[in-house]
Amino acid sequence: MTKEKRYCLECDDGVLLVHGAVDKVITIDALSVTVPHVSGWHCPVCGECEFDDGEGKRYSAALTALRKQADAERASTLRAIRKKLGLKQAEAGRLFGGGVNAFSEYERGKTQPHKSTVLLLKLLGRHPELLKELA
Ligand SMILES: [Zn+2]
Repeated sequence: MTKEKRYCLECDDGVLLVHGAVDKVITIDALSVTVPHVSGWHCPVCGECEFDDGEGKRYSAALTALRKQADAERASTLRAIRKKLGLKQAEAGRLFGGGVNAFSEYERGKTQPHKSTVLLLKLLGRHPELLKELA
């Protein structure tokens, strides 16, 4: 064991980090993944971690993979709602803004729609009868 002391830079109020291996859970939207036994200096208050050598890479790879999965799920959800509403991509782009190619890009995960667009689409997905109010 080392006698070294490290303080959490996130908490910034003298919280001591604890060295050890901890299972770190990454959550994006409704998805989560556990990266097992992440070795490093962990903050018991905010969960911040100063990774030991190589661990940041492993954590980052898991984060990147989960982001990719979350982007793909978001894209397929948008596509499903758009189709449920009976809109072509170009029509959806004109109606919700962003231009005729916007939905093509959203549904391929090239760009992300604004949060308000996602919320409106989810609302319309549950209440498709409201679409006529917008058109
Ligand atoms: Zn902290």
